[in-house]
Amino acid sequence: MRRKIFAGNWKMHKTAAESEGLARDVVEGLRAHPTSSEVVVCPTYVALDRVAAVLTGSPVLLGAQDMHWESQGAYTGKISADMLQAVGVTYVIIGHSEQRAYFHETDETVNRKARKALAGGILKPILCVGETLQERETGLMEKVIQTQIRGAYAGIAASEALHTVIAYEPVWAIGTGRNASPEQAQSVHFFIRELLASLYDRSVSEAVRIQYGGSLKPENALELLSQPDIDGGLIGGASLKADAFLGIIASS
Ligand code: PEP
Repeated sequence: MRRKIFAGNWKMHKTAAESEGLARDVVEGLRAHPTSSEVVVCPTYVALDRVAAVLTGSPVLLGAQDMHWESQGAYTGKISADMLQAVGVTYVIIGHSEQRAYFHETDETVNRKARKALAGGILKPILCVGETLQERETGLMEKVIQTQIRGAYAGIAASEALHTVIAYEPVWAIGTGRNASPEQAQSVHFFIRELLASLYDRSVSEAVRIQYGGSLKPENALELLSQPDIDGGLIGGASLKADAFLGIIASS
């Protein structure tokens, strides 16, 4: 039985002080209504330290929104896995569609980052995949997902793959208010799980958690989260309001 995992991707929203407040609301909400799911919040880099302090002693884990594949060096504007680990980060989002669309993220850079995150058990990557509307409408969806998954996991051993999470995020559903239907999402999640079984084996494919992401909200969470291969959510907009984020978690 896979434990569900919910991650709030706060993107480039909220100052450090605002992030601290939101983190506190999430922690207090979960104290009042505990969950068996794993919960992660991913604030901006400048808020990591302050949010880490709020999360101390709570079951909520800290996540980051990206990382570089090198440990250190002349990479202006970038941050390393070791630096994230040093402030208490456990999970890191890698390959988000916004990184792919605006910041030249490729399957190769996703793979480099994932391998670095996993090396020596530093961080657990949340690996994002998903097709555009055009790709879906022209019948390329499975090919795109397969290429992204194969690329992300190249050179990653089964023992490491067990520490990864996949987020299936159809690009057309991110921030649009238009979520994938439960049937659409389930069929892609099943496709990804079968792919993992062919890349590794059944024990890995049954253990790796696959989140759904794309306009997930309290109103549509129950139907999506009750699909057999949907193991939680990567949540953007709705994670910026504690009530909505907690409402989604409570639906599982
Ligand atoms: C995301 O950006 O990962 C995301 C799922 O955003 P939203 O929930 O706003 O669609």
